[in-house]
Amino acid sequence: MDECPRCQSPLERFSLGDAETLACNGCGFADVPVEHESKEFRYESWQDAFHRFYEQ
Ligand SMILES: [Zn+2]
Repeated sequence: MDECPRCQSPLERFSLGDAETLACNGCGFADVPVEHESKEFRYESWQDAFHRFYEQ
């Protein structure tokens, strides 16, 4: 399992629609994979989506 580059906690894999990413529950780090729409897939929007993902 990969470790968070910030806090060395184990990263968890999340699926969000078509996107799949590794994210850290400890510090909120998200490793967004390279994909076609990555130019518009910014950290802020990921956090926003991540928040919605958990509230559902
Ligand atoms: Zn972390």
